Amino acid sequence: MASDTNPYETFRTQVADAADALGVDGGTVDRLTRPDRVLETHISVEMDDGSVETFEAYRSQFNDARGPYKGGVRYHPQVTRDEVKALSGWMVYKCAAVNIPFGGGKGGIAFNPAEYSDSELERITRSYAEAIRPVIGVDRDIPAPDVNTGQREMNWIKDTYETLENTIEPGVVTGKAIDSGGSRGRVEATGRSVMLTSREAFEHLDMEMEGATVAVQGYGNAGSVAAKLIDDLGATIVAVSDSSGAIYDPDGLDAREVKSHKDETGQVVGYPEASEELTNEELLTMDVDLLVPAALENAIDRNLAERVQADVIVEAANGPLTNGADEVFAGRETRVFPDILANAGGVTVSYFEWVQNRQRFYWTESRVNDELEPIIVEAFDTLVDAYDTNDVDTYREAMYTVALERVARAATEGGIWP
Ligand code: NAD
Repeated sequence: MASDTNPYETFRTQVADAADALGVDGGTVDRLTRPDRVLETHISVEMDDGSVETFEAYRSQFNDARGPYKGGVRYHPQVTRDEVKALSGWMVYKCAAVNIPFGGGKGGIAFNPAEYSDSELERITRSYAEAIRPVIGVDRDIPAPDVNTGQREMNWIKDTYETLENTIEPGVVTGKAIDSGGSRGRVEATGRSVMLTSREAFEHLDMEMEGATVAVQGYGNAGSVAAKLIDDLGATIVAVSDSSGAIYDPDGLDAREVKSHKDETGQVVGYPEASEELTNEELLTMDVDLLVPAALENAIDRNLAERVQADVIVEAANGPLTNGADEVFAGRETRVFPDILANAGGVTVSYFEWVQNRQRFYWTESRVNDELEPIIVEAFDTLVDAYDTNDVDTYREAMYTVALERVARAATEGGIWP
């Protein structure tokens, strides 16, 4: 994998840039950019036809200086050791950016879940839960959903863990269905923080959200909710996409209707009210006020960045820009608001879910949303302060300086053992 598209290299550069700005010593940076451990395992599962298939699976535990390892589980053919290392590292700095008491972890299985039946997926998920059981726990490492996993998979992981441990411990995983101990507002939380970050960014830049043109790449959980809530702010969602392609309407797409169409047909392409179909590349290079990449990492590399025309980019996905793209945008002042802030609503409401599970006391959806908003707004304000005070070139670097200071302080205060 080229270093510009290796997400772990992207992550290490992002932290190193912030460390330079803060004057953090090399030994500390090295310590804070390597995972504590990575579990690499192979799970063998019986298929519906009686055959046995073996899958490559991971759980990376990056750093727990600020609290238990925390992060999602991804099902995707492109899952690799370096990808889960990067994703778990981003979780450390994301939790620190919004100041919640978690460290960072991430896991995944390298396969395409669309090719398997529901009963096969259940056996794959339960085998994975059994494989990671020795290293997870409510105060140790708490998985959550990520790409191609959701409430159903989290319920299976919880049930497997509780059965094997002979306990009731719903807080061992977050992102569960409500009746299995999930939190109200969790499904919408990531898109909600993308909306809040976009709103704050526009206000900070003296730009009007009313009538602003918006393109969203990736119309899954994060992207579709972000589109709906940004639409509610009065913006015009002119284009959205998924892996089937992109749809466009200069007068605005109805974000909710597009979601219903995708729920029914499995894709955004074919939505009858759209005026045109585009490629994903055309969507990413459209002349819009706001671009929200909400699919996977490396969506925009250096070459594509040269052609991106959006004024503001708010990252819903983790790591959608390569370091090369970041350099292009910094050079011409395209404003990029980073993933570790913009999509942190997901892990913040996961934190609320974990708190509710431990208290055995459940909040209303409006309480969840009311508790989330000030956390994101305060993190945004610390980003702006750091941008104004620290020797940084980008909003990403600014957010990393805030997060790195917090992580480094916790790690240093704990000292080195033995
Ligand atoms: P999802 O599986 O619900 O949606 C992903 C969407 O991206 C799908 O619609 C898929 O078709 C589309 N897609 C995939 N490849 C694409 C491509 N090349 N071009 C355009 N679209 C493409 O996943 P999600 O949970 O919404 O996660 C999306 C991103 O947000 C990931 O980077 C994830 O790590 C990040 N994220 C998600 C959460 C969460 O709570 N769901 C929290 C934090 C970060």
